[in-house]
This record gives sequence, C-alpha cells and structure tokens, in this order.
Amino acid sequence: MDAHDELSLRRKRLLETLPSVRAGAFLVTALVNVRYLSGFTGSNGILLLTPSRSLLFTDPRYQSQAPGESDCDVIVAKGNLSKEVASWVKRLRLRSIAFEENRISFAEYQHLKEVAAPARFKPVAAAIEELRMLKSPVEIATIRASVQLNSAALEHALRRFRPSMTELDLAAEIEYRMRRLGADGPAFDTIVASGRRTALPHARPTGHPIQADCLLLVDVGATVAGYASDMTRTFAVGRLNPKLRRMYKAVLESQLAALDAVRPGVSCASIDSAARDVLRRYGLEKFFIHSTGHGLGLEIHERPRLGHKERVKLQSGMVVTIEPGVYQPEIGGVRIEDTVVVTGRGCEILTPTGKELVVL
Ligand code: ZN
Ligand code: ZN
Repeated sequence: MDAHDELSLRRKRLLETLPSVRAGAFLVTALVNVRYLSGFTGSNGILLLTPSRSLLFTDPRYQSQAPGESDCDVIVAKGNLSKEVASWVKRLRLRSIAFEENRISFAEYQHLKEVAAPARFKPVAAAIEELRMLKSPVEIATIRASVQLNSAALEHALRRFRPSMTELDLAAEIEYRMRRLGADGPAFDTIVASGRRTALPHARPTGHPIQADCLLLVDVGATVAGYASDMTRTFAVGRLNPKLRRMYKAVLESQLAALDAVRPGVSCASIDSAARDVLRRYGLEKFFIHSTGHGLGLEIHERPRLGHKERVKLQSGMVVTIEPGVYQPEIGGVRIEDTVVVTGRGCEILTPTGKELVVL
C-alpha cells in the first residue's frame, strides 16, 4: 500500500464514524490529526472531509508544499481559514458537521458557527485519536526507526560522559547527537536528573555538576519522520548505597513483570497492576505516582493510557511505553522505560538499550 492509499484508508475509517454522530462531514482542526489524515506537515491547516470531497485549507506559505505532501484538494486562503471553510460548507450544502471538541478554541468555534450558519456543528471527543491507537505497518516501521535512533543518540552521548558534566551539558549532548543522527528534533524536553533530583519524575536539567556516588536518570525521546520515541534509563554514577540498589532492582522487576503481561485482549489497567504488584512486595508502591505507560506515535502521549482506570484492551498493532518508577523524596528515584509494539501473542520490545544497572 502506498502512502496515499494509507491516507485515504484513514479518512474512510473516520467517515465511517459519521452516522453515529448524525453528521455528513468532519472538520479536523488539530494539526496532528490534519497530518494523520492528509499527510500535510505545515503549521496552519484545517481539513474538511465528506464522503465525496477531502479539502485541505492552508495559507499562501504552504501553497507549493501542501499539494506535494497531500492527496487532498488544497485550498489556499488568505487570512482566517474558517471564513473559507464556511464558504465551502455552504457550497457543498453541508448541514451537520462533526468537529473535534477538544481541539478547537472557544473563539474559533464561535466564529465558525456564525459564518457557516445555518450548518450545525456536532462535538466529537476523540474519534481520530481512537483510530490512531492502532498503528499500520508503515507507522510501526517509522516508530522503530525513531526508537533505534533515540537509543543510538543516548549511547553516543554517554561515551562523552564525565562526572563533572552538568545535567544541562548531558541533555544538550544527547539532543545534538539526535540531530546528527537525522532526527527532526527531540520529541519532548530531555530530562536529565541526578542525585536527589531523580525523585522528581519530570525534573528539568540544571547547571549543577553531576555528583559521584548517586543516581542519574535520563528520559529521552526523538521525533523521526514525525513519529516519537520515548525511553528512560537510570544509571549509577560511582557506587550506590544498598537502598538505591534495591530500588533499582524493584523497578526493573516491576518493568519486566509489566512487559510480560502485555498481550492482545488484556486491559491496560491489568498491565498497570502487574507493575504495581511487584513494587508493593518491596514496600515501594506508594512511591509510584504515575501510570505505567502510554501510547505514542505522532504525539509523545497518545491513547491508550496504561493506568488503573483505563478499560481499553490492548490490540495487536498498538505501540505503548512501559515505564514504572519509584520516587522517594530526599532519597532518589528510578524509572525504566521501553517502547513496545503489541503483537499477535505478546509484545516486541523495540528499545534495544540494555537494562542491567550500568555504572558510569
Ligand atoms: Zn513515556
Ligand atoms: Zn519518557
């Protein structure tokens, strides 16, 4: 299947959801969803989909890029795109249009409603995000490339590691390596935390030198051809005390248990419990303060969420992270994160980086 066939298949699947919301068209306003359904990667675009037309609205900056990337009919408009959208709504005599309720500003919505009257707009929560949970073989291949590049960037950066480096130095080195290896850029702000700051799950790197005899946590992701990767590794800089070594052992065991539980038909909540059960045995469950993982793809955080409330069942073709962690205030934290693809019988771990405790 070529790229354009894949795009039209995605649009077809989305349009199949229209009868359930009694709408005759779908208005796509989230740029990431515009990209998913049209191939267009610019920074300004709206998509209007009907069973017979696929219209991509953008501005003159993209008049040559958009037709090159997308198989949709490109309409270049000056100024506010919604005015042009409204005129097409009238031209195509659309009466009822589904729109992404979480992906439009109140002002934009009000404006559209006014200029496209008497057409009615029907709020839809996450129809496109639901389609995006299941990755195609092409998407999985792209995520695999992203994950491999990400691991290579970390490996290259660690070769230049010196204990006097600051957290910022190491973060900059990793991001530089990513770019050199061909990434679009980092998928999120690289997290490098050392010592007691490892107890902050989303620490920002600081200018403090990385001290000896402590933990070093690195959470890093690249974007490659639009697709994210996500990996966390925790290292020992010098010697760790027995308490921190036990923490590492517990998190690794928890991560392996969660990985082992991944297979089609299993609920996301049960993967989360598999990770938590192990940490409970170590008396560390109360320090595990986030969910076990998340989907990823065009965005770093996608559906499904691997948390205790998530009822979604895993299916072959979903790509998720498995990332339990323990964060003990004033002592330190450990997180270990891999990206995996759910297969017919279990899962394939895409992340090639090892997980035994590495001493830097
Ligand atoms: Zn993650
Ligand atoms: Zn991460």
